[in-house]
Amino acid sequence: MTLIEKPVVPFLSESDPGERQAWQTALPSALAPFAIVKPFEDLTENEKASARVAIVANPDPKKVAELENLEWVQSLWAGVERLAVDLPADGPAIVRLTDPQMAETMSEAVLAWTLYLHRDMPAYMAQQRQKLWLPHDLKLPSEMTIGVLGLGKLGQSAATRLSANGYVVNGWSRSEKTVPNVDCHHGDDGLKTVLSRADILVVLMPLTAATKGLIGRDALACCKPGVKLINFARGPILPETSLLEALGTDQVAHAVLDVFATEPLPTDNPLWEHPNVTVLPHISAPTITATACAIVASNLERYFSSGKIPQSVDRIRGY
Ligand code: NAP
Repeated sequence: MTLIEKPVVPFLSESDPGERQAWQTALPSALAPFAIVKPFEDLTENEKASARVAIVANPDPKKVAELENLEWVQSLWAGVERLAVDLPADGPAIVRLTDPQMAETMSEAVLAWTLYLHRDMPAYMAQQRQKLWLPHDLKLPSEMTIGVLGLGKLGQSAATRLSANGYVVNGWSRSEKTVPNVDCHHGDDGLKTVLSRADILVVLMPLTAATKGLIGRDALACCKPGVKLINFARGPILPETSLLEALGTDQVAHAVLDVFATEPLPTDNPLWEHPNVTVLPHISAPTITATACAIVASNLERYFSSGKIPQSVDRIRGY
């Protein structure tokens, strides 16, 4: 009987040591039936040369380049804008993590923080600090329009959940889309329509050359005065200077921000202390180790048995 050797799958990560260790424990047992997962640092030269696929979480691109025969990398993150910039266009295909559990978690976060804004929680928290008993008028969800920018895996799930809660939901994507109970728009005119209707605007697009700075001064000026924002995508889509300016004129009434150009948000950043900003430490939809490992294992097992690489990032579009 001949023993078939299991392929070695490199794991590359420059994430914090705790996160790296959690993956280094979970991934080997998830892939154990068909592959051996090894940290990049433990690979032999032979293993580096024979690696066809690697699992990555914020990897050092120089180390990825040392794996000369890689066909693809499986990211443990849903947003892969850094990989798309760091890895050469003719380098390995980039497969991002698409986890239905993450879409569920994100849609729950979008509903939670939409309710936080809709039910005036920032105002009531401020009033409590002043011992001020002052009820505000309540709008029904059906009287409020939520704009969702990005109708991908996360945006569609969030838009559907918002609409199930009774909100009027408008969505925007690059290409034309149909989502039940969501008024879908696309293209430049579509963006203006969604911006001009929204009481609350939720940003759920990937960071690409086309979306960087997209919700800046001009876009914010197209919104209803007093619009409220939720950015759960990436910081640079909504430039901080434009946001602070729009908060200063009350064009934007409140912003819930989970993502920033620099993370962790530096302690001297004015957003921390702005009364109309809620700062969250990138927690709206964290990767869940158990479900992510199952998805990664299934992608790699299929590749080793059939040679099929999962759908990868379009390097020209950038997502
Ligand atoms: P996705 O499935 O790739 O969907 C992206 C959506 O954005 C698509 O609807 C796409 O349009 C649209 N889009 C892209 N570029 C556009 C442009 N230039 N103009 C208009 N629409 C554009 O991505 P996803 O899984 O929903 O994730 C979205 C982002 O969420 C990720 O890239 C990541 O940055 C972020 N994220 C954040 C967290 C967190 O914890 N804060 C967690 C996970 C992910 P088409 O449909 O026409 O392609």
